[in-house]
Amino acid sequence: MEATIEVAGLHKRFGSTVALDGMSFVVQPGKVTGFVGPNGAGKSTTMRVILGLDTPDQGTALVDGQPYAKLRRPLSHIGALLDAGALQPGRSARNHLLWLAHSQGMTVQRVDEVIEQAGLGTAARRKAGGYSLGMRQRLGIAAAMLGDPPILMLDEPFNGLDPEGIVWARAFLRSLAAQGRAVLVSSHLMSELQDTADHLVVTGRGRVIADTSVAELIAAASGDRVTLRTRERSQAMTVLAQAGGTVATTDRDTLSVGGLPAERVVTLLTEAGVPFAEVSAHRASLEEAYMEMTRDAVEFRAQPVQEATP
Ligand code: ADP
Repeated sequence: MEATIEVAGLHKRFGSTVALDGMSFVVQPGKVTGFVGPNGAGKSTTMRVILGLDTPDQGTALVDGQPYAKLRRPLSHIGALLDAGALQPGRSARNHLLWLAHSQGMTVQRVDEVIEQAGLGTAARRKAGGYSLGMRQRLGIAAAMLGDPPILMLDEPFNGLDPEGIVWARAFLRSLAAQGRAVLVSSHLMSELQDTADHLVVTGRGRVIADTSVAELIAAASGDRVTLRTRERSQAMTVLAQAGGTVATTDRDTLSVGGLPAERVVTLLTEAGVPFAEVSAHRASLEEAYMEMTRDAVEFRAQPVQEATP
């Protein structure tokens, strides 16, 4: 069986707070799956249940077809980064990794490989107490990679990374998926997953709102509109409408055309001798697609609401 995470019908309450309310999804190998939703949607709780750190009131979570607690060498099945702050401040990153590796029968050589992979370099010998959040994230990613697992699960790995770190993390996650691994990455910001995720599990209030490929989501939100710039607006409108297009003016010299592909628009205008400057197919951003999808879900907010300052 290919390595996956399977979550089915998870329910979990903390006192009167419903954290999980029927959370269900499957993480596929060879893909980066974005696990998105506002703060409080239940992402971290789901991840803790997957690792056996929280017990659900109802439902199951399987890693490689088994509950985490039943895995004989868990780090060789799944690597996880849940809380980058969970470090001994007096211990260096390298010692932290050596300690983890020894407890699992892994070699010093493996420790140095993951230090290299995570871009920790010489900082790995400094005490972890002085690390920035970005360095802690890299150390957490290095620890998750120790057992060379086919499944990676990272909770908000972009938090605290500088722009260079974000570029690195995106490429790193893509390379893990390209190697055939199943990668689950949570984020409360959809924009962080642009050009990174192949698939999305969108959550709100403890359950899944949408489970879709990024390509499908963007295609659905983009529609099939073509944007066109031309000095001869009315001439262009006539030609395109006659060919069956629906044409709307969006600016003084800009038209938005529906029902005709961009190549056809170019051919029609060229044949009719109508001058034009620019033709582009509209492609929605992931953020736009997300807004579109969640527009009617009133309970859902794309961004956490800022606390009002008195
Ligand atoms: P997310 O990771 O999507 O931000 P969480 O899983 O952290 O969401 O939280 C889901 C809900 O459960 C929130 O309302 C949160 O306050 C609550 N919650 C999570 N862990 C605990 C806990 N240990 N005790 C009480 N409430 C908790």
